[in-house]
This record gives sequence, structure tokens and C-alpha cells, in this order.
Amino acid sequence: MDYIDLRSDTVSHPTPAMREAMARAAVGDDVYHDDPTVNQLEAEAAAKLGKEAAVFVTSGTQGNLCALLAHCQRGESIIIGDTSHIFRYEQGGMAQVGGIVPHTVPVQADATMRLCDLENAINPDDEHKPVTRLVALENTHNAAGGLPISAEYTAEVAEFARRNRLMLHIDGARIFNAAAAFAVDVKELVAGADSVTFCLSKGLCAPVGSVLAGEQDFIQRARRARKALGGSLRQAGVLAAAGLIGLQEMTDRLIGDHQNAQLLAEGLSEFPGVRILSQNTNFIYFSLAPDVEMTLDEFVRVLREDYNIRMSPYSGEKGVIRLRTHYWIDRPAIAKIVSAVSAILP
Ligand SMILES: *Cc1c(COP(=O)(O)O)cnc(C)c1O
Repeated sequence: MDYIDLRSDTVSHPTPAMREAMARAAVGDDVYHDDPTVNQLEAEAAAKLGKEAAVFVTSGTQGNLCALLAHCQRGESIIIGDTSHIFRYEQGGMAQVGGIVPHTVPVQADATMRLCDLENAINPDDEHKPVTRLVALENTHNAAGGLPISAEYTAEVAEFARRNRLMLHIDGARIFNAAAAFAVDVKELVAGADSVTFCLSKGLCAPVGSVLAGEQDFIQRARRARKALGGSLRQAGVLAAAGLIGLQEMTDRLIGDHQNAQLLAEGLSEFPGVRILSQNTNFIYFSLAPDVEMTLDEFVRVLREDYNIRMSPYSGEKGVIRLRTHYWIDRPAIAKIVSAVSAILP
């Protein structure tokens, strides 16, 4: 990449090894289950997560929607965090497409939801109320600053779900970042979940795709939903080939992205003009000190125009910039960012 792009980890380009694997990929028609590379990706992803089966989907949004459509009937309700990606940033697809009613519960500063709040969100068997079918977690939690949630907490929610005959879905777009942060096998973080999605196209660096995993018959229903959503692809092996490298080779290096985020936050915190608000996993949030004369938009523009560095104001909160490290943000890039900021801020 010829510029330094910190706006998201979704901006990560495929690696040279991925491009080569894409060019060489064996392919077939995946709607006939004939694509060996897609089949391999699905099998390896399921094994890595400790689930029976998996399905390759075009995006995390599609994976979450396929999961909800496969778990719920129209008119049923799910319990979900009020700041969750599924509720806030997926256009209410569950309601638009599935007739599913979100019942939101506050997400705490530590990225969890209180069990008593989850309990209170379960509708009684009452003809006035939609039937509650599912509870959803997010790990790492986007709006909670990229905080990971632990295997212990997830197990508590899984136990709560089982006790109340609810399904548990995990939006694990960055579940491998969570596994890296806790230094645990990713299986432990999803052990009690009926379904889990993760993104190949963020920290894992693939150009396209996510994976949804769960039990065999659930995945069959999710495949039906994927088809209806237009997400069943033909020679998708060219995409899955990059995803396989992401799954096989990129998960173990995510801790480096976290270390780089920490290093960058430390570097920026040296400037009196910068207020670091949080740094977790590969996320940094910061604002400019009140006495900095430049506006946030000007700061972003100067970095972009004069230094080839891209940052973006955070849509969730005014006056805040969010940064995310990824494969293409290396140590020299961190040094360049810190030096550019030192030149701009007094
Ligand atoms: C990125 C993301 C998704 C899915 O996003 P797509 O852009 O549709 O792949 C879902 N949940 C979370 C928490 C995310 O960060």
C-alpha cells in the first residue's frame, strides 16, 4: 500500500501470497458443492472453531443475517446489545428481511451485558409478546473500543441461554483478535455458542468474505438463507484461497497488531495535544486536547494531504478519531505516524 491507512482493518489488502494462491486456486461451482477450495476453507474453519460445519459468506453482515434467519422465525425476538454491530450497523436487516424483533440490552463499559438484564429481556409466554429465540454476543466488541470478552463470561451466557432454551450467536468478526488478546484457543471463546461468524477480510487480510459456523443442520438452513440473499457464489475458490491463508497463517500474527496499537498509542500519548481515550486489541480512540487550535477535520485533512496518512473521525462519537492497526501497519509506519503528528501538533 502506498499510503498508511488506519481508518479500519477492513482496508487491509491481500498479501502477495494470497494473490498467488488466488491465481492458482482449484475451483468448481460452489452451489453444486464442487469448489474444492471453498470446501477446504469451510472444513478448516469449522475445525478451528470446534464446530460441526461452516459456510463461506460474502461479508460479516451476510453471515450474521444468515445466522439469524436460520435460527428464528418471523415475529420472533432476539436479545442483543444496544451498541452491537448487528443492531447498529447492519441496517436492521433482521427486521427488513427476517421480520425479527431486536430487544436491546445495555452494553457495559467492559463490553458485556449483565445477566440480570438478559434475564429481564426474555419475554414470558404471553400472546402479547414475540417469542424470544436467541441471545447475541459480539467479540471483540466494536463500540466498546475493541475490548475482547472472556471465555468465562461467554460460558456464563451460554449456560444462561441453555437454561432458558435460547440459541447463542456470537458475532465474532474479530474473534481471533480476542483469542490473541487472551492467549487462548479460539475454541474456548465460542465453546457454548450455537453459531459464530468471523471476518476473513479484517485482520486476517483476505480481500472478501466471512465464515459462519455451527451444527450441520443449522448450516444447511443458513445455506438456504444465503441463497435467498444472493450470496451463493459459483467459482468462489479464488476468494476462499485467500481466506484459507488468512485462517492458516494470519491468526497467530494478530498479537503483533495489538502490540503495534499499543506502541502507537504510547507514541501519540507523548504529545500534550493528544488525549488517548482507549487502546484495546488493535483499536485506538483519541481526541485532540481543547487547546489545540486545529479542528479534528483539519488534522485528518493535513495528515492525508501532506503525509499520505489516512485516519477517520469516529462516526459513533463527535470529536473522536479511531485508529485500527492491521497487517500493513508495521513498525516503520508507526514511526512515520508519530513523526507526522509531532510536525502538525504544537
Ligand atoms: C466488520 C464487522 C461485521 C461485518 O462487517 P462486514 O463489513 O459486513 O463484513 C460484523 N460485526 C462486527 C463487530 C464488525 O466489526
